[in-house]
Amino acid sequence: MKKQIPVIGIEMHCELKSKAKVFSRASNAYSEIPNSNIALLDLAFPGTLPVVNQKCVEDSLKVSLALNCTQPEYIYFDRKNYYYPDLPKGYQITQMSEPVGVNGKTEIEVNGNLKEVLIHDVHLEEDAASLDHYFDTSTIDYNRCGVPLLELVTEPCFHSAEEVLAFLEHMRRIYQYLDVSEADTKKGQIRCDVNVSIRDIDTEELGTRVEVKNVNSFSGVVDTINYEIERQTKLKEEGRYNEVEQDTRRWDEETQKTVHMRSKVDAIDYKYFVEPNIPKYKVTQEWLDKLKEEIPRLYLERKYDYINNYNLSNYDASILVKDRDIADYFEECLNLGIEAKTASNWITTQIMGYLNKEERKIKDIFLTPKRLKDLTDLISKGTISFKQAKEIFDKVLMEQKEVKEFVKEDNAQLSDKEELNQIIDEIINNSPNQVEQYHNGKTNLFDYFVGQVMKNTRGKANPVLTKEILKEKLDK
Ligand code: ADP
Ligand code: MG
Repeated sequence: MKKQIPVIGIEMHCELKSKAKVFSRASNAYSEIPNSNIALLDLAFPGTLPVVNQKCVEDSLKVSLALNCTQPEYIYFDRKNYYYPDLPKGYQITQMSEPVGVNGKTEIEVNGNLKEVLIHDVHLEEDAASLDHYFDTSTIDYNRCGVPLLELVTEPCFHSAEEVLAFLEHMRRIYQYLDVSEADTKKGQIRCDVNVSIRDIDTEELGTRVEVKNVNSFSGVVDTINYEIERQTKLKEEGRYNEVEQDTRRWDEETQKTVHMRSKVDAIDYKYFVEPNIPKYKVTQEWLDKLKEEIPRLYLERKYDYINNYNLSNYDASILVKDRDIADYFEECLNLGIEAKTASNWITTQIMGYLNKEERKIKDIFLTPKRLKDLTDLISKGTISFKQAKEIFDKVLMEQKEVKEFVKEDNAQLSDKEELNQIIDEIINNSPNQVEQYHNGKTNLFDYFVGQVMKNTRGKANPVLTKEILKEKLDK
């Protein structure tokens, strides 16, 4: 058999952040109590009418812009008609004919290489209620009914589970940077339909795809893809490829297998038509321009900026851009004039260590960039050592007081040039042997002299200044 190439396309649903639902005033806050966030519209009471939540439209347009999509001339919605108990109206309001974005593309990093991902479309729609099935009963929770959902459909442009995982993480990061969703899989905010097929290496023609519905974790998506590639390849090897008929399946966590749900012989006819209760309205250039201004620099751009213009390592830059608030904090430090590598070191080690330990967010940290600047200034001026700075760092956070409160006279560094000059002259005069050996090429004796200065000053000599003076005197 010829070598097989996997082909994968993803439909990613992500719940958007907003106070209210997408067409009703019910709260969109996560609630543990079933059926507590409901408006009459969500239950399809007669006479109720949908009102578009403008924030959801704007957030969707931001995603569309960030993914380099084409935006529609008008915003309007379509009805997708079908009956299911989780959909009391008998139809879902979605966007079929004019999504908020079409024909986009975005670059992701896979294993250090850039890959372009093609976006078929992004569209705004409402979520359905959630059903739970027990032994002989099913329960329904309408809290999710009407929750704003952004669906993103990629072209079949992935060739491995690894690429898809990189893409999902990329999207999660973009949603968080745009502040349109927490994109938290643990809260069920992201669900994916995973389309997988295989094809012979020497053809462009796509194979028959299998669609696996509603996979709700990234690891589930990876397992689904790998499982399907193996299953389909095996069927092809055994000459049973016709069994990979257009098939709709689901991922079963327990058995770690995909299982058949229904066959997808013909496309279901949802009898789409334009939602008549929502008048269409224009997407003006001014509106798009305003939204563009609200889009922050995204993570990859920042990452390359930190590497190329601030000489940070790929590793450090990657850590800094993982979370937008951390990246913002870092950039504020740069604006205040803290040296990039210094700021990066403090953030990736001390600050993130503290945040992890205390389970806090950087937005709430008492040590603002301004206070970090106070601290790093003291080190670069030689008033305190790095070791002392770390102690002060802990105290500032613990006692929530200004940095200067912890810089005491007696533990300040000795940075007086005159005084250091004198001490060093004395040491050099008292060590003629070492000086001679040093001049004869035993340059590692330099550390011996540094040690002598430290001994003489009980460790308080400013090390940077000490080395500077020593170099000057010994090398002249
Ligand atoms: P629907 O799921 O409504 O039938 P489409 O036919 O447009 O919608 O396909 C949806 C998803 O399936 C897209 O993400 C697309 O990239 C993917 N897809 C289409 N054909 C294939 C294929 N042969 N192999 C893998 N994925 C595919
Ligand atoms: Mg589909």
